[in-house]
Amino acid sequence: MGSITIRNHTIGDGSLTIIAGPCSIENREQLLEIAHSVKESGAAILRGGAFKPRTSPYSFQGLGEEGLQYMKEAGQAAGLLTVTEVMDSSDIDLVASYADILQIGSRNMDNFSLLKKVGQKGHPVMLKRGYMSTIEEFLLAAEYFLKEGDNNVILCERGIRTFEKFTRNTLDLSAVPIIKKMSNLPVIVDPSHGTGRADIVLPMSKAAVAAGADGLMIEVHPNPKKAISDGQQTLDYNAFRELMQEITELHAFLNHRLTAPQAVKFKVL
Ligand code: PEP
Ligand code: MN
Repeated sequence: MGSITIRNHTIGDGSLTIIAGPCSIENREQLLEIAHSVKESGAAILRGGAFKPRTSPYSFQGLGEEGLQYMKEAGQAAGLLTVTEVMDSSDIDLVASYADILQIGSRNMDNFSLLKKVGQKGHPVMLKRGYMSTIEEFLLAAEYFLKEGDNNVILCERGIRTFEKFTRNTLDLSAVPIIKKMSNLPVIVDPSHGTGRADIVLPMSKAAVAAGADGLMIEVHPNPKKAISDGQQTLDYNAFRELMQEITELHAFLNHRLTAPQAVKFKVL
């Protein structure tokens, strides 16, 4: 089993790594509050966009470096690692100076010159699956980091575009066991972007854990209706706390099941 360790946290060792936080970093006080809340519920990594890839150029584009400062401060205050997106190769040094993990967004998965430069930086990276990419293309994109000698790579399944309209993307959970068979990289599932619907984030999180994911990335905001971006797929603090309880129980149950048959047999004998 491939695992990677970033500071004091190991991803992919059989435990579940939960990444949580807002879609966009909105302001300092709110991010601090979110960080403490998700930490208390069991998250290990704080997420939040400072450079946002928005479909419309008129939508909020993120706070930039100011947002990175808030993220670093909130991560330190709550005892969380941090992950945030880098969209442009000219920002790699800047983002890496604030964040523990560089996120490559779905829209940039096949921006090969960005991948090469991030790989050369050698910073831990989380690569999101391109929304129009096959699993093979996803794995080959990850090779761009490995080829540069950057082995601290996490993959994130976040859904692909299909003809289905009831969800924002089709969350392809078959990618999890397939990637586990074909590589030794940890796989995180993002049911927030993968469905675009807060009401089905919980069942799809459970399905991801059952499929063998090494963790989840969940969008959390104190008041999703007022979130600057992606409120429709964002959980509030209570819903996130409940999700954490349910998936922790499910994960323990699944691990138990792996060893249970033998234990039961001995008892019967
Ligand atoms: C994100 O996670 O902030 C994001 C923009 O997701 P994606 O790149 O998967 O659309
Ligand atoms: Mn989002």
